[in-house]
Amino acid sequence: MSCVTILREVFGYNAFRGAQQAIVEHVTAGHDALVLMPTGGGKSLCYQIPAIARQRANMGAAIVVSPLIALMHDQVGALHEVGVEAAFLNSTLTGEEAHKIEQRLLRGEITLLYAAPERITTPRFLALLDSLYSRDQLGLFAIDEAHCVSQWGHDFRPEYRALTVLHERFPQVPRIALTATADALTRDDIVERLQLQHAHAFVSSFDRPNICYTIVEKRDSIQQLLRFIIQNHDGDAGVIYCQSRKKVEELAQTLVNAGLRALPYHAGLDSKLRQTHQDRFLREDGIVMVATIAFGMGIDKPDVRFVAHMDIPKNIEGYYQETGRAGRDGLPANAWMGYGLQDVVNQRRMIDESPASDDFKNVMRGKLDALLALAEATDCRRARLLSYFGETQPFAESYSRYICGNCDNCLQPPALWDGTDAARKLLSTIYRIQQQDNLHFGAGHLMDVLRGKRTDKVVQYNHHALSTFGIGANYSEVQLRAVLRQLIATGALAINASAFNTLHLTELSRGVLRGETRIQLRATLSKLAEKTSRAPGSKAVSPKTTLQLDEAALVRFTALKAWRAEVAREHNLPAYVIFHDITLAQIAQRSPQTATDLQDISGIGAKKLEAYAIEVLRVLKNCTI
Ligand code: ADP
Ligand code: ZN
Repeated sequence: MSCVTILREVFGYNAFRGAQQAIVEHVTAGHDALVLMPTGGGKSLCYQIPAIARQRANMGAAIVVSPLIALMHDQVGALHEVGVEAAFLNSTLTGEEAHKIEQRLLRGEITLLYAAPERITTPRFLALLDSLYSRDQLGLFAIDEAHCVSQWGHDFRPEYRALTVLHERFPQVPRIALTATADALTRDDIVERLQLQHAHAFVSSFDRPNICYTIVEKRDSIQQLLRFIIQNHDGDAGVIYCQSRKKVEELAQTLVNAGLRALPYHAGLDSKLRQTHQDRFLREDGIVMVATIAFGMGIDKPDVRFVAHMDIPKNIEGYYQETGRAGRDGLPANAWMGYGLQDVVNQRRMIDESPASDDFKNVMRGKLDALLALAEATDCRRARLLSYFGETQPFAESYSRYICGNCDNCLQPPALWDGTDAARKLLSTIYRIQQQDNLHFGAGHLMDVLRGKRTDKVVQYNHHALSTFGIGANYSEVQLRAVLRQLIATGALAINASAFNTLHLTELSRGVLRGETRIQLRATLSKLAEKTSRAPGSKAVSPKTTLQLDEAALVRFTALKAWRAEVAREHNLPAYVIFHDITLAQIAQRSPQTATDLQDISGIGAKKLEAYAIEVLRVLKNCTI
């Protein structure tokens, strides 16, 4: 049976997307592959279809390595819904349950077996695989979330390193490694660590055109966030990332008080409660999850409409991964981030204070700087993001002139002002202070000197006598802080987090001091940022309107959703595993009369047709009465 036939009959989809077909055929034929595809690109089918094809050709079962124990139940449930024999082995099973699954695997009754890496590399599990291998019944290894093998990725799992045993012990079995993250460093690491030198690399574009990126300067961040959600995403599912557990708890409570359905999630919560919150997020409509980065990997909820960051992530990989959880279904979604000087200070401090080696710290600092440059950018965010991942083709000429049309800077180009003069004044003030006192000071004191304020500290250090005292009085503090951030983001100024966040000149300072490096800044950044945060989710691109159902269809859609919720509850699975919104919307629109009419709709394969056609037709019929 061909791969296209499996796609149509089992999954109910008409055509492969992007590189899917090439990948699926390559792996089904028994070759290794490294797949780099953005979230929502359709990675699961890339290993599920070869697994089905190879099992049907009597080549045995596929073993799927996944770090996501909490999600295995739903992943397997989704496969059962389309009629594929799948199971998982993890620590949530009793010894007896695990034994039963092992027996089924040995009898050839399982097509895909999901397991965590630490389980796969146990002697017991390897012995099980030996037994299959000796009978040519080990069909495929799929290594999901492959970036976990790399310390440069954001979810390093040392257990992944042990997976080389699969290749060494079972050299004849094809392997497919998949990830949605990978800058060049991480990519090389995956190849080396998993010994995939001979694998064909399938690299898709990392662009997520349906995600609108917005980064605003933090002022009153909770109010800004509330305004963003209420104006654009009332009733939508979303994720809000915060850096600390405490902040997660507080913000979740604030949002609940503001009438939103918000839940906290962080590693400090009791594991049962954490699982309950995750299940509610997946199973109920319109939950806002307030979380640390402990939440999100592998969450395949397709209708997350926004991801917000209240604190900046560590690097662009993290930002891209986290924002990428929005809009998997391809419908419009927003990525919103608040950003301020304190974020820069905190992140730098975390790097400086970490016990890592100097080399490692330097790499981390470089990655943080790239993120700061993205936050400070006055040009297209998407172009910056993609060029960071080595994708420069669409912007070959100059990405500063590229306009994607779906980020804050493109939708509402910020007015710029030339901050070169202010930057020179700022740097020369630091220079003079250090010359005089051989002491370093933080941003607050510096602002006071520049703006000519005689504070106690200024008087104590005699800084009102400096030639630069008050030379920045014609700039507002907001402007000077923007200049400061920009200088830090471009490396012309360094913060020493281990010495009270004091400011230091760098090699690059000289160019600015001499007036050789021009500094471009947003004019009245704060006001503009607020306006732009409203623009992306405005009615024109609101996901709800993109379904475009007329009144009668809307009645059917609502009835279908109610029916789906019931089925999902019965099966103990998230609603989207039964049918996606898009599939229900198409059913509502076309209002099919027979099972044959239903068959043409995307997302209805043979098994779902058999299981649900009668009920769906009944729901539709009841709507017309
Ligand atoms: P990823 O793992 O890459 O983030 P998924 O495998 O979860 O993405 O796929 C994202 C969504 O797109 C899923 O809901 C999936 O059912 C759907 N999808 C994947 N491939 C196709 C296709 N060829 N046609 C239609 N829908 C698809
Ligand atoms: Zn843009």
